[in-house]
Amino acid sequence: MDGMGARGNIIVIGATNRPNAIDPALRRPGRFDREIEIGVPDKMGRYEILQIHTRTMPLASDVDLHRLSEICHGYTGADMSSLCREAAMKALRRYLPEINLEEERVPSNLLEKMEVKVDDFMAAYREITPTAMREVYIEVPSVNWADVGGLTQVKQELQEAVEWPLKKPEVFKRVGIKPPKGILLFGPPGCGKTMLARAVATEGEANFISIKGPELFSKWVGESEKAIREVFRKGRTAAPSIIFFDELDSVVPRRGMGFGDSGVSERVISQLLTEMDGIESLNNVVVIAATNRPDIIDPAILRPGRFDRLIYVPAPDNTTRAQILKIHMKNMPLARDVDVDQITSMTAGYSGADLEAVCREAGLVALRRDIESKNVSLEDFRDGLDKVKSSITPDMENWYQGFHKRFKKERAPVPIT
Ligand code: ADP
Repeated sequence: MDGMGARGNIIVIGATNRPNAIDPALRRPGRFDREIEIGVPDKMGRYEILQIHTRTMPLASDVDLHRLSEICHGYTGADMSSLCREAAMKALRRYLPEINLEEERVPSNLLEKMEVKVDDFMAAYREITPTAMREVYIEVPSVNWADVGGLTQVKQELQEAVEWPLKKPEVFKRVGIKPPKGILLFGPPGCGKTMLARAVATEGEANFISIKGPELFSKWVGESEKAIREVFRKGRTAAPSIIFFDELDSVVPRRGMGFGDSGVSERVISQLLTEMDGIESLNNVVVIAATNRPDIIDPAILRPGRFDRLIYVPAPDNTTRAQILKIHMKNMPLARDVDVDQITSMTAGYSGADLEAVCREAGLVALRRDIESKNVSLEDFRDGLDKVKSSITPDMENWYQGFHKRFKKERAPVPIT
């Protein structure tokens, strides 16, 4: 390549899916000096690929390519092509009984009525694991707002801070503000922080990359910074995406807290800060983190431009607890004497996770009472409440509220400079 005159009319194009495994000498200026990353296609890209692959297919009128392209997060071009092929195969299989294999030709009236229906696509869709998701972290969560009980205000805040910027970035540009880069959910354990992050990813039609804090150190021993780099790289290629750090306190503990090897946490903190600072260019990537211990997080992480939006996810109040109970009771055959409001009033201090456990216990008690049991009674719920104790004390709530007050001077959206 060095021998090719600069004005020669030969261009060498190389392709790889492992750029970092290439000898760096090849990536120097004068050799392969232009690198173009071709990521996973976005919704529009998927729609166009679908159009190409279905061009010659007899589609039934119920097939909506826009809708299909929306649900195929993380599909590559090759995945879209096999989706179409598999759907066509499924359609053919439906007509197989009508085809006489002995005959040389398929009758033209049968050929004319053959069509590929949306059900064929959905059956194929369920069988294909998209390439981008075979790697560990990327997932398409299936939690919706309706699965999260109560917490109306928190949902609203998340919609504004995450869903709008992902779905309508142009409105932020129009009013001249930048959406927050990072959002920190904090509050007592088991109150729905993880669920909320998943729900906002589903509702914002984004891919979800989730990392549990302690895992970052145990799974990638000695390589935690590399793991952080990798997570952000994946976030960019799978955009629109949400990167979710659960238990952020263990990723970025206040420096000098003396957790294990402080050298490692120093390096991890600075890697995370570098990635967050570089997020400007990360269109369509939002970072969300959750913690029960906001007080031990390194303050550098909470500065403007990093996790600059703190959202308090409080212990559930009466209304929220009632809704959580209803969600978890939805599939339970309840006896006539079960009154949600009455049970709600007995559950002050119970977190969402506690309430879920109460319902599970009540179901088990009913079964223990009678293995053929057809319904779960109030008495069973009382037994469930005896077994599962509340995990949130008034002291804990006060502590979180106090912390929230101190941070309440919530930073207004930053004007674009
Ligand atoms: P956190 O991340 O705050 O510790 P999670 O989101 O993991 O809590 O919640 C744990 C479990 O508790 C969930 O899987 C869910 O079953 C239940 N839960 C918590 N909050 C709610 C809620 N608001 N609505 C419905 N279920 C909830």
